[in-house]
Amino acid sequence: MLHGSNLIGNKTSAAGSETLRAFSTVTGDFLPGNFTIATEAEALEALAKARAAFAVYKKTTPEERAHFLDTIADEIAALGTDLIERTMQETGLPQQRLLGEQGRTTGQLRMFAALLREGSWVEAVIDTALPDRKPLPRADIRKVAQPLGPVLVFAASNFPFAFSTAGGDTASALAAGCPVIVKAHTSHLGTNELMAGAIQRAAQKCGMPDGVFSSLIGEGSTLGQMLAKHPDVKAIGFTGSYRAGMALYKASANDRKAPIPVYAEMSSINPVLVLPEKSEQEWDTVAAQLSASITLGAGQFCTNPGLLFVLENSTTDLLVQKLADLLKAAPEATMLNKTICGSYNSGIEKLLALQGVRALVQRRDAANEYAATATLFEVAADTFIANPDLQEEVFGPSSLIIRCSSVHQLNEAVSSMHGQLTGTVMGTDTDVAVFAETIDLLTDRVGRLVFNGVPTGVEVGQAMVHGGPFPATTDSRSTSVGADAIKRFVRPVCYQDCPQEHLPDALKDANPLGIMRKINSVLTRGPVDLAVAMQTAKA
Ligand code: NAP
Repeated sequence: MLHGSNLIGNKTSAAGSETLRAFSTVTGDFLPGNFTIATEAEALEALAKARAAFAVYKKTTPEERAHFLDTIADEIAALGTDLIERTMQETGLPQQRLLGEQGRTTGQLRMFAALLREGSWVEAVIDTALPDRKPLPRADIRKVAQPLGPVLVFAASNFPFAFSTAGGDTASALAAGCPVIVKAHTSHLGTNELMAGAIQRAAQKCGMPDGVFSSLIGEGSTLGQMLAKHPDVKAIGFTGSYRAGMALYKASANDRKAPIPVYAEMSSINPVLVLPEKSEQEWDTVAAQLSASITLGAGQFCTNPGLLFVLENSTTDLLVQKLADLLKAAPEATMLNKTICGSYNSGIEKLLALQGVRALVQRRDAANEYAATATLFEVAADTFIANPDLQEEVFGPSSLIIRCSSVHQLNEAVSSMHGQLTGTVMGTDTDVAVFAETIDLLTDRVGRLVFNGVPTGVEVGQAMVHGGPFPATTDSRSTSVGADAIKRFVRPVCYQDCPQEHLPDALKDANPLGIMRKINSVLTRGPVDLAVAMQTAKA
């Protein structure tokens, strides 16, 4: 039974009189449960608790935070069928996908726990004092990553677990030592409540400070903006539309006395280059791979391949025809919510209204009002180059083929592209050698380069980069998936001639955490005196 309340640290709270309900695109009706919108006083209470919690939470040991993250994972795993059933209704996503995403979410939490235990992510660097250096002595200087403070997370609609309440932003911020306030996504409020409850229980079991986590219900344009502008918020994690992401980015830059980092992952159409020899040898396999990737999860992935660059040759028409046939035959799929379904349909209309765009696949026979059928369009490269509107994200199972008549035109088209999360190269070894310049141009515009695969499916690991130049994200130096996501929520702090007792453990001479550190430019797990003795002996 859902309570419909906000979670403010350790308590539930529903002081307001306005409520929201979750709408199901599966049943076409509202689901049971009234969710009470947070009042301003409740939002301020969550902020004050987060600020107070930070003073305690930032001093927790890596092991204490790792145990907290593992406990959240255990609590989520224990939610069982209640969670999956509610989320299926709220999102239209099938059971298998959600079970997989639940595993990904708990795996992500455990990955950050392991990262904390290993410890070297804090990038501890020690330059020991050189009192006899001429002409000037050097002070003892040590630096390490420290948490920023309370982080505001906007849950994403398209990954109700892995990018939502207990998703990557929350996991990485908590791992870094930052309290988290989640603005629940209004399209999966029941899911949010179950996930937030799991985090709240874990916080209490692990003795974490009251306010280390809160989850608030409300609209983005009101509650979301109020939280984003509050001085106690020190960073923002967001996944969603360009419009909302930029509204938050601008609010940080213009409406706050102190701007803060806004990590917004917004709009990406994920170009794929189908190079000529690959097309000649494997046009049918390539078409099948692309069709499966375009339609996966009703195309509601930030890595959905929305642009296909082909260099005209004898097999281009075969490839395009095969892809069109496969997409025509693909079953309809229920979309996440009314807004996303509406945006998909209006995105298609907008594309069709543009000069030079030809529809190759466009069915209008979906039985469910909130289901999408796949669409495929094509356009000549010179039209694509001349019209930036062709680069607007159509969020759903849709792709646009760019027909290029020369290598020069292909390079120009790739150069005209905005920043993207991913770029994919379908090419033989010969293609990759011949098109090295094109691939270089693509590399400058993406966060992840995929060879002979598809961009959908993002591994949560140590080396993953899920980011990219604007407008894919507002900060191309960051990733929202993988171990480095934690770096978004820390800043380097340098200690000069600091007494041992006052140094963070990561910087103490004895290295009590046993982590890898750089001492006088050499990586070592040893204590400072041993490292210096070895360096002196070598010299
Ligand atoms: P959204 O509309 O951008 O909403 C995301 C979050 O931002 C929600 O919590 C929303 O609040 C909040 N919000 C909206 N306007 C805001 C504002 N002015 N200030 C502060 N917060 C604001 O995204 P969505 O609902 O997930 O999907 C809508 C569209 O976003 C899709 O059709 C698609 O084009 C795009 N999208 C892209 C990706 C991607 O990864 N590239 C992923 C998901 C969606 P409410 O709950 O009140 O709406």
